[in-house]
Amino acid sequence: MTGLIREEQFSGKVLGITATHEGKTLNIQAKRGVVVSTGGHTSNVNFRRIFDSRLTEEYQVVGEPYSRQSGDGEIAAMQVGASLWGAGCQTVETQSRSHIFEKPYVIGNQFGYPQGGGKRNENIKDSPVKGIARGIGLQVADYQNLIQVNQFGRRFVNEFATGFEWWNPCLEQNSTRGEGGGPIWAIFDADAAKRENWTLAPPFVDPDGWFFSAGALRDLAGKIVSKYQKAPMPGAALEESVARYNSFVDHGRDEDFGKPVPLHKIQTLPFYAAWSTPCIHDCLSGLRINGKSPGHRLWGKVVPGLYCAGETSGGFNQHGLAKSLTFGRIAGREAAKSVAHS
Ligand SMILES: Cc1cc2nc3c(=O)[nH]c(=O)nc-3n(C[C@H](O)[C@H](O)[C@H](O)COP(=O)(O)OP(=O)(O)OC[C@H]3O[C@@H](n4cnc5c(N)ncnc54)[C@H](O)[C@@H]3O)c2cc1C
Repeated sequence: MTGLIREEQFSGKVLGITATHEGKTLNIQAKRGVVVSTGGHTSNVNFRRIFDSRLTEEYQVVGEPYSRQSGDGEIAAMQVGASLWGAGCQTVETQSRSHIFEKPYVIGNQFGYPQGGGKRNENIKDSPVKGIARGIGLQVADYQNLIQVNQFGRRFVNEFATGFEWWNPCLEQNSTRGEGGGPIWAIFDADAAKRENWTLAPPFVDPDGWFFSAGALRDLAGKIVSKYQKAPMPGAALEESVARYNSFVDHGRDEDFGKPVPLHKIQTLPFYAAWSTPCIHDCLSGLRINGKSPGHRLWGKVVPGLYCAGETSGGFNQHGLAKSLTFGRIAGREAAKSVAHS
């Protein structure tokens, strides 16, 4: 689907869609209505930043690379006058258990999600997607085993925090220092890897920009090369952050961020840096609909012949399949009830 066809750009019924198929451009007529359900828009960085300008490019999208959340449906509908709705849902309404912005489920891989991890690896053995996700990622059993630093090598958060309490500091960090956003790196040592029983090699980690190791912290900082790490991490800052954290272990108290009783010093080489940046999961905002799922015009009334369901729709703060199935069913039913186009 490349666009919607409406009688006039901003008036009349939605009559169908334009599409490409095997290199040909097609116009497909709808008998009763068009249900836009192309999923979310989180892979479209420009589009997602309309909802929250802090959602910059470094935040990877869970579900990629198999499924891109392009925003095609929202954009096509907006081009014929439909309205967005519930922009605040994207981040504001997901404070306690965020389903849009997440602490990564795993570290050391690009997408922050267990890509066929553990037993599930078996399921993608013969699949065409095998290989394109590269690293499976490391599951963190205990956040005592690492610290998280920003692109400047500074700690900024209690690593045990979850949901909003964790990801909001990632976005904001020390905004007075101009350090908002950017990659977050988990820093740990050889002892931590043993305690976690991690295998620090592909396919578990992705050394192609998402996982690094070195025999000294200063060298580790210098080795971190990522297109999202805009300037080299200062080695002295990383050394200072680790030294300060190690002193908290001595005193049994995290004076900076209140991590409960820091237990393990980071001191046994080699040292490691693993991608540990928030990832984007669902899309909770999109096109305006009501209980009968029609798309609405910017000026409030419905767009005749246009329906919308799933993550393309906005204004209903509900994660996942239940929302998509419920509104998908309603949209299909309402479209089927409408008068057929001649
Ligand atoms: C990793 C992951 C785990 C999840 N786990 C759960 C879970 O456990 N429980 C739960 O309830 N939910 C879960 N969800 C959320 C749930 O999968 C989604 O909310 C749901 O699939 C959204 O359905 P949808 O129909 O709106 O969009 P999608 O399922 O994304 O479907 C949209 C479809 O439109 C297609 N499309 C996009 N653009 C175009 C175009 N221009 N032309 C033609 N086709 C197009 C896409 O290829 C896609 O097939 C998870 C999501 C992810 C990413």
